[in-house]
Amino acid sequence: MSVNAGYTKDLSIVVPIYNEEKGIPELVQRLRVAASSITENFELVFVNDGSRDGSLELLRRECSHDDRFFYINLSRNFGHQIAVSAGLDHVKGKATVIIDGDLQDPPELIPEMYAKYREGYEVVYAQRKHREGETLFKKATAKAFYRTMRKITSIDMPLDTGDFRLIDWRIVQCLRDMPEQNKFLRGQIAWMGFRQTGVMFDRDERKYGKTNYPLRKMLGLAIDGITGFSSRPLEWVTKLGALVSLLSFFVIIYALISHFLLDKTVSGWTSVIVSSMFLGGGQLICLGVIGTYISRINKNIVGRPLYLVAETNIAANK
Ligand code: UDP
Ligand code: MG
Repeated sequence: MSVNAGYTKDLSIVVPIYNEEKGIPELVQRLRVAASSITENFELVFVNDGSRDGSLELLRRECSHDDRFFYINLSRNFGHQIAVSAGLDHVKGKATVIIDGDLQDPPELIPEMYAKYREGYEVVYAQRKHREGETLFKKATAKAFYRTMRKITSIDMPLDTGDFRLIDWRIVQCLRDMPEQNKFLRGQIAWMGFRQTGVMFDRDERKYGKTNYPLRKMLGLAIDGITGFSSRPLEWVTKLGALVSLLSFFVIIYALISHFLLDKTVSGWTSVIVSSMFLGGGQLICLGVIGTYISRINKNIVGRPLYLVAETNIAANK
């Protein structure tokens, strides 16, 4: 991987955009200032992830003002991780920054991240000190998730980091070459190793609009993170199955003894109901866990493209 083919810019910034029209002018302005303070040889790559507001028109207009600004319009909403992956497939930077488009990740931190990159780190992630304006529930679940991930996977994922980070072109290349369909970028990047470090920042409150990561999507991301990097849940399920079988063995012995030796058969059906419910529940959980892994296999075998580009101002030969 010594050939730096195609990575001709000093800095690329990838920004996923989903219904962010109110913030886009300020976002573009602040990104431009932050990038220019590092180099003039930069590019901004916006990925419009099927926004239903005026984001696309705004992006088109912004991009027509500066030939270093690019947009990729996906054919529908594919989700944050895929939007970022689409952006990464098109960058030309020796260093690439991934940043949210809602200004919760301050663009002003990029120069500090770039300074670390110049010191020789291939990955510089932004680690949150505080998270402003987010519900206690979100903070608590996020915290629990990162700690669980660390415990049950073998990868060393830094705590309290999102996808806001700077990565070297080698990392970008590895991500492009990784075939998996269920993207969990921060896990994939942590898995890669190289020299990684963090810079601390206060996560701002969302200025405009509202979060696009409701509980449903957060759970989806958490499940992708866990199933992508750990088969522990399968091991737990197997152990649970063994335990339940052992218990039922004793119950069967007890039932036989009471029937043939003590001659007092159980008359109530409560015990039957309770145990069958218990087993039924246990089996459903197990099936769910196994099903989750199988659906991952299925997705990867089908080999559908990750996303479709409807329109872009990036030249085809880029
Ligand atoms: N986003 C996206 N597609 C989606 C949801 C979100 O591209 O389906 C973008 C969104 O525009 C923002 C970033 O991903 O730039 C993070 O989303 P959000 O702020 O809603 O998540 P949160 O910060 O609440 O975790
Ligand atoms: Mg946000």
